[in-house]
Amino acid sequence: MSVRTSVLTYILFATLFLSAITAADTSTQNRDVKDLYDIAKVVDVANIIPVAVIGSGPAGLVAAATAARAGYYCVLFRGPRFGGQFVDALAVENWPGVSKMNGYDIIKRLEAQAIGWGMRMDNQSITGVDFSCWPFVLKTSSGQELRALSVIVATGVSTRKVFADVPGKNEYWGHGVSPCAICEAPQTKGCSVIVVGDGDGALKISRAVAFYANEVTVLTQKNMFSVTTPDLSRKKNNTSTVYNAVLKEIKGEHGQVTGVIAQVDGTTQFFPAQWVFLSMTPQAQSDLVRGHLTCSPEQFIVTAPGTQQTSVPGVFAAGRVTCVQYTQAPVAASQGMMAALDAINFLGQAGFNREWSDKLKFQLYDPAQ
Ligand SMILES: Cc1cc2nc3c(=O)[nH]c(=O)nc-3n(C[C@H](O)[C@H](O)[C@H](O)COP(=O)(O)OP(=O)(O)OC[C@H]3O[C@@H](n4cnc5c(N)ncnc54)[C@H](O)[C@@H]3O)c2cc1C
Repeated sequence: MSVRTSVLTYILFATLFLSAITAADTSTQNRDVKDLYDIAKVVDVANIIPVAVIGSGPAGLVAAATAARAGYYCVLFRGPRFGGQFVDALAVENWPGVSKMNGYDIIKRLEAQAIGWGMRMDNQSITGVDFSCWPFVLKTSSGQELRALSVIVATGVSTRKVFADVPGKNEYWGHGVSPCAICEAPQTKGCSVIVVGDGDGALKISRAVAFYANEVTVLTQKNMFSVTTPDLSRKKNNTSTVYNAVLKEIKGEHGQVTGVIAQVDGTTQFFPAQWVFLSMTPQAQSDLVRGHLTCSPEQFIVTAPGTQQTSVPGVFAAGRVTCVQYTQAPVAASQGMMAALDAINFLGQAGFNREWSDKLKFQLYDPAQ
């Protein structure tokens, strides 16, 4: 046997072996889902939701539109903030196919699309879950107990608690104050920019903004930078750093930022700027599911690589609540779509089909009633 034939034979056997393992894995998963989540269990259950989506940001709305369009009865729980963080984005330039639009208008389009496909919107929040039984239990803010065949968690992150006491922060949030350089750096062309923060986050922001802005001033509370990525410490010509600087106030006029007041080495100084980027550590809004789903040490929900599957089959997570690295709305939206497709696949494995959909129609939860 020539060397070439031996190599080809080896590759053939390796491929057959790997396919056999993959097939075995998949069939085990299918068997588990079928055994554990047998659709016949739900015949007498009331208030059923085949696809329940928690959160009305880009991830939740796209998940709901995808499930509803595929013909699945889907209820989306809006939560404390309709549209999520994206409504703070006043000039979105990276939504695919749209040159410039504000985040709220994009959210309204996503909502209209999802409702057009039959999504039911519930204005409540989900206040409690039980994923140890199936159908899963969801408790709403009005005290109702609902039963979901699949759940998509899209509760996003919160960044508002940081710099919470700084006057002007909330007033100019979205009007020159931003936590997101990748979102808004191109809009700083020709502007003076202040970046506030102490670590890698602030340096990443200043690097992104320095491509566009006239000048970038980094205000850091420390007397030196704590940076873990040496490459990021390289300064651009238009970037300077002020050490021992504590942000005191964000000033503005006619609804737009004009600069910041900071205490530097004990003296009060005004730094003029049209943009202020606050380096913030996002807090995953995963409190609801902590203890029920595996979360990372930073409390982001862990999903299986390449899918939106969480540690509980039938429960999926999408958007920023899963993701520390990719902070953009189109990424959240794509994950929402993936989560819905995963949920549809799961429901198929559990035996939920057109026939069951018809059979359960008088047991479905309708937020309008
Ligand atoms: C100022 C600013 C500007 C930005 N600009 C851009 C930009 O230009 N381009 C871009 O791509 N990205 C931008 N982003 C980022 C973008 O907003 C996020 O990537 C996106 O919103 C993440 O979507 P999400 O659906 O994962 O979470 P979110 O949008 O945060 O939505 C979370 C949802 O969960 C709901 N929720 C939370 N808890 C519960 C509960 N218990 N029950 C029910 N619902 C619940 C909330 O009500 C909310 O509707 C910006 C962000 C900010 C803050």
